[in-house]
Amino acid sequence: MSLSRFCKKPALSALESDFNIRSIQDLIYCFPFRYEKRESPEDWKTLNQYIGQTIGISGKVLDAKLEGHPRRQRLRVRLSQSGVFLDLVYFKHAQWMIKKFALGQSIAIMGKLQAHKGKLTIAHPEIVTNASLKKDTGLVAVYPSSERLKKSGLDSNGMGKLIGQVLKEADAQEFKEYLPNYLMQHFGPKSRLEALQSIHKPASFEEAHLALQYFKFEEIFWFKLQQEIAKRQVGKKSSDVIFSSIGENINTFYQKILPFSLTEAQKRVIKTIREDTASGRQMNRLLQGDVGSGKTIVAFFAALLAVDNGYQVCLMAPTEILSQQHFEGLQPFCRKLGLRCALLTGSTPASERKTLLLGTTSGQIDLLIGTHALLEDRVQFESLGLAIIDEQHRFGVAQRAKLWAKNTQPPHILVMTATPIPRTLAMTLYGDLDVSVIDELPPGRHPINTTWEKDSSRLKVFGFIKDQVDQGHQVYVVYPLIEESQKLDLKDLQDGYESLERYFPNPQYQLGIVHGRMPPKDKDFEMKRFASNESQILVATTVIEVGVNVPNATVMIIENAERFGLSQLHQLRGRIGRGSAKSYCILLTSNEISEVAQRRMQIMTASQDGFRIAQEDLLIRGPGDIAGTKQSGLLDFKAIDLANDTNIVHSAAEWVKAILDKDSMLEKKENLVLRSHLYELKPKWSWSEIS
Ligand code: ADP
Ligand code: MG
Repeated sequence: MSLSRFCKKPALSALESDFNIRSIQDLIYCFPFRYEKRESPEDWKTLNQYIGQTIGISGKVLDAKLEGHPRRQRLRVRLSQSGVFLDLVYFKHAQWMIKKFALGQSIAIMGKLQAHKGKLTIAHPEIVTNASLKKDTGLVAVYPSSERLKKSGLDSNGMGKLIGQVLKEADAQEFKEYLPNYLMQHFGPKSRLEALQSIHKPASFEEAHLALQYFKFEEIFWFKLQQEIAKRQVGKKSSDVIFSSIGENINTFYQKILPFSLTEAQKRVIKTIREDTASGRQMNRLLQGDVGSGKTIVAFFAALLAVDNGYQVCLMAPTEILSQQHFEGLQPFCRKLGLRCALLTGSTPASERKTLLLGTTSGQIDLLIGTHALLEDRVQFESLGLAIIDEQHRFGVAQRAKLWAKNTQPPHILVMTATPIPRTLAMTLYGDLDVSVIDELPPGRHPINTTWEKDSSRLKVFGFIKDQVDQGHQVYVVYPLIEESQKLDLKDLQDGYESLERYFPNPQYQLGIVHGRMPPKDKDFEMKRFASNESQILVATTVIEVGVNVPNATVMIIENAERFGLSQLHQLRGRIGRGSAKSYCILLTSNEISEVAQRRMQIMTASQDGFRIAQEDLLIRGPGDIAGTKQSGLLDFKAIDLANDTNIVHSAAEWVKAILDKDSMLEKKENLVLRSHLYELKPKWSWSEIS
């Protein structure tokens, strides 16, 4: 049945152009974005209780007059009842509207009641009939609209009416069930039609809420069903790279070398990796864990598993400093185990590089750590079984594919990221990856005291730095460096450095400076000076964002904090709070910053949970912007809110798995309804592959 049966041409094209609504299905899935409780107070003495609400009311016209400048006239109408006054104000069409209010007559209106300068006021109320005053009060759906739609009669009310009519008169076919009976039983509404009625014309908030839960489920269910079917196709691809046994290295490391006990979350992820790599299928796993959650050691366990099964491993990090740190952290473990570990970066001297490459080709090197340099063609392995990528958001899918090609059989891939993406979003974004989460920090971490200070308190902040440095601690001072305004930013950094130098004079204090424009050698030199506590204050750009580990640093000052995004702020803050002393993060901003920036500062001072922060980020910016992943098409969900509806996503995913486990082809009688709707969804994978 076509939508044209229900509305005229201009409305049709407005619906299509402004809301992408082309069919009856599109229209009935255009949900209200909120509901208004419309009361119809009889006793005007109680009107004060309804301020801020939309009410329907009738009263006698006491006065109606035009006010203000002739060219911007407004109409003020005063209604009264039982000695209470209510002012109606019209800013538009005043001359025309005034005709509708005859003095002494009773009139029914509907609108939002406000208190304006102590007077009860309604701006631009709608004039209604006495009958609809009764009928249209209660819960009323508010729909999105546009100028164009309004012109064709489809303001919020018009939309409501249109949808109501469609729900009543369209063919039953339009409301056929999408979900099987056994699933429907879990929801309040008994059928899809009932759910549609409840969402568009609910009798209570509760009813609307239940219907919305159903639609959220339905929406993510279809997404997950398609994704899971696609994934099972890929998952059928077998791999000869099988880590079947737990060997000596892993046992020795676990029993004799590991300097702490693993957190439950770490154990869980290691177990999953074991299962993945023993399964005979290629692992593609994303490991998410907040800054400092201990991903490296999990990666190392995975590496040992590979080595114990006769394979080599590479670990790739986005920066020189990071790969160096990984190398320095893991090399001692390898040495104790008698394994060969090597570091390859852009600055590895040619002679060294040569022996190193020979070592990987011949299979003598067990673990090769490095930067992008690992991707070069001349880096060949004898048998690469596992490729680990740290801080994934800096590497793209293309780079992952390059690693795949480094073995006749693609190696298992473990991608680690500290970009805290809400789990559900990660699952959506990385549909091709399985996702594991370390949701627990190692014991003994102290919360970081985070405060937000304005420029005007700079001296106080300097005093605080001095205090901490005098106690033997170290301090980061970070400046933004944005590509477009590089010159200015570098000048900021330089100026900042100089004013700190005046306050913290040499030789009593040692300062360092690091930024991305410096030659790597100088950068390294400064980083090392700071790491070994030769310098106490490090002025830097975000080059220190990722991975750097100096436990003695207890203070992080972030200059121009308003210019950073939430996840970047969180990453930066993760550089401190790594030792036993109390740590402080101070967000310094200009005295005047935007509302959104203020909100970011508030979130940062209130929370230290990377996932929560990421969710807030998602709420502020929308999913399209997360971690620079502009995949809005993929994330075009209507009902479900990926940031907050994690339970529903989870439950839908479980259902999908359970259903496909039992009936992978959706052939059972009770599942035919699923199969038929899948056809209608025009799936992205080829159906022929599964049928
Ligand atoms: P990230 O997940 O940010 O990469 P790291 O792997 O660098 O975190 O770990 C941060 C620090 O925590 C390291 O010094 C590491 O040795 C330590 N660590 C990791 N796991 C544990 C644990 N289970 N107990 C105590 N300390 C741990
Ligand atoms: Mg790390």
